[in-house]
Amino acid sequence: MTNSEKTARIDPIKLSPDSEFKFQCHKGVKCFTQCCRGIKIILTPYDIIRLKNRLQLSSEEFLAIYTEPEMLEKTDLPVVTLKLLDDKDESCAFVRDDGCLLYTDRPTACRYYPLGTAFLSHKDGADDDEFYFFIHEPHCLGFEEKKEWTVREWRKDQGVDIHDEINAEWTDLLVRKRSFPMNIRLTEESKQMFFLTSYNIDKFKKFVFESSFLSRYQFDPETVEKIRNDEIALLKFGMKWLKNILFKEEDFKQKEV
Ligand code: SF4
Ligand code: SF4
Repeated sequence: MTNSEKTARIDPIKLSPDSEFKFQCHKGVKCFTQCCRGIKIILTPYDIIRLKNRLQLSSEEFLAIYTEPEMLEKTDLPVVTLKLLDDKDESCAFVRDDGCLLYTDRPTACRYYPLGTAFLSHKDGADDDEFYFFIHEPHCLGFEEKKEWTVREWRKDQGVDIHDEINAEWTDLLVRKRSFPMNIRLTEESKQMFFLTSYNIDKFKKFVFESSFLSRYQFDPETVEKIRNDEIALLKFGMKWLKNILFKEEDFKQKEV
């Protein structure tokens, strides 16, 4: 258990996009960067794309160096969290005295903070509905500031609305899997495919373009060209394909042999 899991409290009040709150975070607060220590950050597929590109690593390298695997509660699906340093504060590898080293590419959960969103939470109080809540950590003094926001305004200001739009199919997949009875288990192969498509975009690209994949389905040349050159398009394509594999949804027409 991390430091923050021992002390963080999820407010049971469910927030809507129009819910209002007072908050501001800036370099002048006494607690500056304390929230970047001892915290569990579940990464989304788009987080991996931004972070690995920022660090000029392959997705495989980024996963190996900076993440830890975890099973997302109630979904039986593998996700990854940011690996914390082995120091006394369990610091994020990217935190510095003057803030986040990768601020403009920071992960979705960091953008949401001090809000949480149900689909990225393991904690009690989260369920299958999409909603937001406050993560109350005693050290966070941002709630004492005067600046007023609605949840909608905060999400836009932090750029998390763009992350959510790109991750929407992935989120939908998690929420739908979580609504399945727990005794319906996925095969190990399906879980591996989920992990590959969600997180290892470079390897997924190789799978699409360097295996028999393209010869098995009917795709128009425009789609093939788009996913060859655009990682976000490839990610969205991968999520639709996963839905086809896991839930028999989306129209992926097999070629007749
Ligand atoms: S603990 Fe709260 S106020 Fe302090 S740096 Fe983090 S988000 Fe900002
Ligand atoms: S990625 Fe950046 S914002 Fe997020 S916990 Fe690490 S240092 Fe803080």
